[in-house]
Amino acid sequence: MAGKKSISMTVTCPVCLSSIHQQLFDPQDVPVMMHRLYATAEQARGAQIATLDLHRCRSCGFVWNAAFDPTKLQYDESYENNQGHSKVFWEHMLARADAVLKAVPPGEPVSYLEVGCGQGTFLTCVAQRAGSRLQSANGFDPAYRGPVTPPARFYKNYFDRSTAGLLQDRPNVVVSRHTIEHVPDPVTFLRSIRNALGNDSSAAICVETPDVEWIIANGAIQDFFYEHCSIFTPQALDFALRRSGFQNPRVERVFGGQYLWAEAHAGSSDAEGLDGGLAEIRNLKSAFIERWRDRVSAARAAGRVALWGAGAKGVTFTLLVDPAGELIDHAVDINPEKQGHFLPISGLPVISPAASSSLNPTTIFVMNPLYLGEIADAAAAAGISGELVPIN
Ligand SMILES: [Zn+2]
Repeated sequence: MAGKKSISMTVTCPVCLSSIHQQLFDPQDVPVMMHRLYATAEQARGAQIATLDLHRCRSCGFVWNAAFDPTKLQYDESYENNQGHSKVFWEHMLARADAVLKAVPPGEPVSYLEVGCGQGTFLTCVAQRAGSRLQSANGFDPAYRGPVTPPARFYKNYFDRSTAGLLQDRPNVVVSRHTIEHVPDPVTFLRSIRNALGNDSSAAICVETPDVEWIIANGAIQDFFYEHCSIFTPQALDFALRRSGFQNPRVERVFGGQYLWAEAHAGSSDAEGLDGGLAEIRNLKSAFIERWRDRVSAARAAGRVALWGAGAKGVTFTLLVDPAGELIDHAVDINPEKQGHFLPISGLPVISPAASSSLNPTTIFVMNPLYLGEIADAAAAAGISGELVPIN
């Protein structure tokens, strides 16, 4: 099975902690800094490369670079990421600035904080739109090159609990645009913002980041590059905010569907948001177990049950659904190295398709639906006539 290497369970999803994920493409060497320009062709040809190995979480859809090495990237003053000044982009900026101001309760002065403010273009836009409502505007970005002058203040730092002390007042709205996709551990990133705001903060947070569903739906493969090590679905962004202690996230698509825009609020305690996120994740898991235990039990009542695929997914499936090995009779795998061995915990024997055929299973659960066609061919060739049921 050529694609078998594409299933990995060695690392959990950084957002929802699911251990089931798929490699999107074969790993590829790519330039590390997409936005860095070089003085000579020779320098450009010698640009640093690193591995892009994108994995997609089967639960929340989050996509991340499993080979990402943050030490290869430096966001210092030489970092350039100017989106240009097209009319469409500027209209988008104005619409987002108005959304930010709407997130502050009417009548309240605006104490604005931006994490990852770049050269301050958006911060300046928000400050102008806020007019007399603006109380303060603070931006943090180690790549900031401009002056550090009031009324807007810029800090060439990352924002966290220690640098939060630099703020002259407490923010009631925090914005982070096109930053979280550069962070390998987005939950820790959001949680550090949440913690820096203080336990009693009720600040709004707005996050903008590319939408991986848009990238995939549009075949925009060029949107996968090294600097973007974390790419979100709406569900993944919702999870990440909840797990970080933000409450009631609302995620919408903006900029023609290319970007996600999330708004949430710092709650009265971290624990509430965290528990909310975890409860949902646990619900997903218990629903999976219930659904497949029922299905496997029904199949067992009708005859002998097998599963196809003795890899990590097969092992996990037995641990969740039939840990005692009472319902499932055996596991089938075409890999001769695995045949004659037994799955951990459940102790199910792993046998060849031909050996399975002689046991005549009436239902065979297929661990990876991607290979259903291939498996159907192999099963038919071995004379297995039972029903193939993909797990998805
Ligand atoms: Zn996930």
